[in-house]
Amino acid sequence: MKLIGPFRQLITMNGLPLQGALSDDQLEVIPDGGILVADKKILATGNFNQMKSSYHPSEVEQLNASYVAFPGLIDAHTHICCNGSRANDYALRLSGKSYLEIAAQGGGIWDTVQKTRSATVSELADKTAQRANILLKMGVTTVEVKSGYGLSVDQELKILEAIKKAQWETSVTLIPTCLAAHIVPNDFTGTETDYLDYIFKNLLPQVLEKKLSKRIDIFVDKGAFSIPAAREYLLNAIVLGFELTLHGDQFSTGVAQLAVEVGALSIDHLEAADENEIAILAKGTTIAVALPGASLGLGEPFAPARKLLDAGASLAIASDWNPGSAPMGNLIAQAAILGAKERLTMAETWAGITFRAAAALNLSDRGILRSGNIADIVAFRSDNYNEILYQQGQLQPNKVWKNGFCVVNRK
Ligand SMILES: [Zn+2]
Repeated sequence: MKLIGPFRQLITMNGLPLQGALSDDQLEVIPDGGILVADKKILATGNFNQMKSSYHPSEVEQLNASYVAFPGLIDAHTHICCNGSRANDYALRLSGKSYLEIAAQGGGIWDTVQKTRSATVSELADKTAQRANILLKMGVTTVEVKSGYGLSVDQELKILEAIKKAQWETSVTLIPTCLAAHIVPNDFTGTETDYLDYIFKNLLPQVLEKKLSKRIDIFVDKGAFSIPAAREYLLNAIVLGFELTLHGDQFSTGVAQLAVEVGALSIDHLEAADENEIAILAKGTTIAVALPGASLGLGEPFAPARKLLDAGASLAIASDWNPGSAPMGNLIAQAAILGAKERLTMAETWAGITFRAAAALNLSDRGILRSGNIADIVAFRSDNYNEILYQQGQLQPNKVWKNGFCVVNRK
């Protein structure tokens, strides 16, 4: 049993709807708040001084500066299990080549696939853990990590094994997703349907058997997979018991309809989404995940976050940290920039990197500071929570607790 506090402002994110627009006055802000933790979980939140009288000083983790606390952040979309830089792609893009032109020349995802294939499980695990630990210092306590740079049965299994191994080297919870359906690999002989059939029959059963992931993802767009091929793959994967997420509506549209139709947890990207996609997502329960890092990396528009929320959709925000389109990997900076451009309230932006991101990962035990949830907490040295997004990533957290234990502690 441990009481942590006082926090000048404790923003719990409790009691907010999963879908739709949010105003800042809906946020529960507990002044001089305390969090009671036992056995990795939150027992209670409330006024620190009132709670403190019930506990022996040895049970109190007393904070002696002014802090603002939120639930530990959740990055619901990354590709941090990878090898190699694509700085040269970036330079080519800025000199006028398109993302699709660079991919057609052998750059793009295929370049990262070759570099990732050449790395060992241990090397990939180390790199993944290093990146997860960078995220942890920025307040991220749960991060989704996709495979997708292997693109053969053995190489995809290697990457998923590396993510599993990385979990031993970081306090951040890693949520693995099988993205073997990233692109049709250049060395595969056959159609996109042949490739999806190959991974469905030969890879997915092993992923389940070895308990490497219970989620699958597919990139549906020009240069990746078509909507009909993706539909068949996803419907087959549901039968095996996989949870679904899609990369979609980044360069072309029509994927939101598919995502809702197959009951996907989320559709991620949506930079090209128009009124039709927005209306479809507003009616369904599939969460829209904006990836502002990809927009910044590619110089493309942001997902229409404001319109999605106003229509009634649920919006999460993730970093998409990957060596190609989104090398920054700074969730708060990206969420703040998206918020500034799209006019998101503080509440909407924080929801997008806490409980709405948790829902995109089908996790109901985090993203909100409330009794029963795991005690993942991030605290910034400030007396005003508006400072954090206002400073667009400059204000780093001073303390992060994972499962109730302080794992980042900066003066
Ligand atoms: Zn991605």
